[in-house]
Amino acid sequence: MKQIYLDYSATTPVKREVVDTMLPYFTEIYGNASSIHGFGQEAKSVLEQSRKSIAETINATPDTFYFTGGGSEADNWALKGVMRANRKKGNHLITSKIEHHGILHTCTALEKEGFEVTYLDVDAEGMVSLEALEAAITDQTVLISIMFINNEIGTMQPVKAIGEIAHKHGVLFHTDAVQAYGNVKIDVNEMNIDLMSVSGHKIYGPKGIGGLYIKKGIRIQNIIEGGAQERNRRAGTENIPGIVGFAKAAVMADENLEAHREKLIYLRDKLANGIMDVIPYAKYNGHPTERHPGNVNICFEFIEGEALLLSLNAKGIAGSSGSACTSGSLDPSHVLLAIGLPHEIAHGSLRLSIGDFTTEEDVEYTIESLKEIVQKLRLMSPLYDKVLKEGK
Ligand SMILES: *Cc1c(COP(=O)(O)O)cnc(C)c1O
Repeated sequence: MKQIYLDYSATTPVKREVVDTMLPYFTEIYGNASSIHGFGQEAKSVLEQSRKSIAETINATPDTFYFTGGGSEADNWALKGVMRANRKKGNHLITSKIEHHGILHTCTALEKEGFEVTYLDVDAEGMVSLEALEAAITDQTVLISIMFINNEIGTMQPVKAIGEIAHKHGVLFHTDAVQAYGNVKIDVNEMNIDLMSVSGHKIYGPKGIGGLYIKKGIRIQNIIEGGAQERNRRAGTENIPGIVGFAKAAVMADENLEAHREKLIYLRDKLANGIMDVIPYAKYNGHPTERHPGNVNICFEFIEGEALLLSLNAKGIAGSSGSACTSGSLDPSHVLLAIGLPHEIAHGSLRLSIGDFTTEEDVEYTIESLKEIVQKLRLMSPLYDKVLKEGK
């Protein structure tokens, strides 16, 4: 059977070139980067070269980029580290209701430590209001954390303008750019970004490696204590194969950014328009233009998302009903509720995320299959039956 992977926002396959670049660092150049001997120094050298390569892709200097165990750790570090280090300045943090759980659950933890958090609403297309953001700033506000691109509905925030507002009020700005990095050109200086989280496995690199950009001069506490790695800020023997793979994936993504974007946007629009054309009672979620080049998120009325995913899976198509972390739970997504969808419609949502290995045939097959599946599932729905009889 055909196997079609349309869940690139959950994770991506590691590119062959990336694997090839990583392999020698398991078996030949396996030294501990903190060791004095040649094995260690070779590892140290490639560690710093990787840091430099990644920093260049975001227009940062190497001494501002720190490796972490992934995007979630970077999110935790940015929020806990900055809030705890700046207690004297204030105890207030502003974020949005549609953040990844790496941010939202960290906020809950910070509230238990006595910090105050404002969760901004978003509009029906998933956009934060700049006016509401500015109005939420108080003399206690230390940090604003707003994600660059949402992982469920793909909406892209006006990051540069958010950073401008933050700086106007002497507030720091962090962005979770895990979905944006490799899909949108990011310049941390031009975009007024003070801290930024990125991850390897969303850009065709390995899992368990990511990083946090921290602008020079920012007060931030450690959250992982131990050895002196990462200039005394993030302890733990460096994951050299992961770091090398992440850097290779980052450079490849950066070099190919425009062609990658164009291809994704073409396929995304073909998929979204194809589905909307052939399936009635469907709602396209997220912003029409300011969105992830590979994200399609659609709600189908009278259908359960779980049933939809299982039927798609039976046809070899891998999609998602929300974020990777919430699929498996039956709660409707916090993002879909935040854009104002009622529970019953939020339950019928489908996220299809395309990537570098998606083909035009994949898109066509998916539209065909989805049309069949939705028809079949709706025929079993008493609600749909009622609508058909009464008209709507
Ligand atoms: C995947 C993701 C994360 C988590 O990154 P990991 O490397 O899996 O820990 C954080 N934020 C967003 C927006 C994501 O999509």
